[in-house]
Amino acid sequence: MPKWENNVRKVVPYTPGEQPKIRDLIKLNTNENPYPPSEKVLQALRALDDEGIRRYPDPASTLLNEAVARHLGIGAERVFTGVGSDDVLAMCFLTFFASGRPVLFPDITYSFYDVWADLFRIPYETQPLDENFRIVNRDYYKENGGIIFPNPNAPTGVKKDLDEIRQILEHNRDVVVIVDEAYIDFARSEEELLQSGGVPAASALHLTDEFDNLLVVQTSSKSRALAGMRIGWAVGSKKLIRYLNDVKYSFNSYTMNQAAIAAGSAALADEAYYSVCTAKIIRTRERMKKELAKLGFLFPDSEANFLFVTHPEHQARDLFHALRQEKILVRYFDKPRIDNYLRITIGTDEQMDALCECLKKLIRK
Ligand SMILES: *Cc1c(COP(=O)(O)O)cnc(C)c1O
Repeated sequence: MPKWENNVRKVVPYTPGEQPKIRDLIKLNTNENPYPPSEKVLQALRALDDEGIRRYPDPASTLLNEAVARHLGIGAERVFTGVGSDDVLAMCFLTFFASGRPVLFPDITYSFYDVWADLFRIPYETQPLDENFRIVNRDYYKENGGIIFPNPNAPTGVKKDLDEIRQILEHNRDVVVIVDEAYIDFARSEEELLQSGGVPAASALHLTDEFDNLLVVQTSSKSRALAGMRIGWAVGSKKLIRYLNDVKYSFNSYTMNQAAIAAGSAALADEAYYSVCTAKIIRTRERMKKELAKLGFLFPDSEANFLFVTHPEHQARDLFHALRQEKILVRYFDKPRIDNYLRITIGTDEQMDALCECLKKLIRK
């Protein structure tokens, strides 16, 4: 080994879900939206002119931040945007978890958290979910250097109620608490969505006025069908946002490109279109819960755009490979506690029917 290699920052990278180029693939492995983005997004992208491409973008991505603020009903000075919520979350780890004390997150959760912690040399302690895959509140009442968890959690889909999140915050006023709401738009019934729309009642956004140490992170990748544009945001007190901006401007001023600013702003202005898509996904999810239960699958009650399923008589790994043979791609994690589970993204009704047909055959074999 050459000596210079001793000086390299060595990291074990995150493994994203596959993006294979297989024709007619039913792709249910990365929680993308099965429906197209709003037509207004495509129009905004087509309207980009040469000036928009030749010039540097607005480093403050003002239009996009204002669109997020308008959508959430808050001031734009409480919004930070980034290149997908992955970029936002990485900035949060770098900015807020600098105490040297361990950051707490669940043992089964978004598998980027431990990667960022290792990358930035942040100590952390994972807290085990209970046997029903629930986050146990009291595990987060000990001394720590910050807390982060997704709500609903990934890859389980299990949601924590707002009063329990409030209790975590009441026990943790001296550290930054981050709630990763990548799936929050799906965390409601179809009725709630169609009646009230807007910000779901389950969102921790409703606690950000009360707790200046609470940061809520959301994304346009899942419920807005914009995974390819890379747009995410954090919402919190002005002070939290100012600290995030200081780190961002010390790292890369131009995170949001013109196309992303235009596309994201257009998407957030078309609530009517996205409510219909999200309602369809929620309806399909509830139908799939019944169908998969009939086939003998067991799963926690997901409130996200995916189901996390296991079968008492069939190995998840075998089902994963057999489905892949049939050009249906789901996600399998070869990790302790979850290596007999499949995470299945909710697609269109047609895609889910094809999946059920295939599973029926495999299970009766
Ligand atoms: C998908 C996902 C993200 C990242 O999404 P971006 O595409 O980077 O916005 C963050 N957290 C969780 C829990 C996710 O599932």
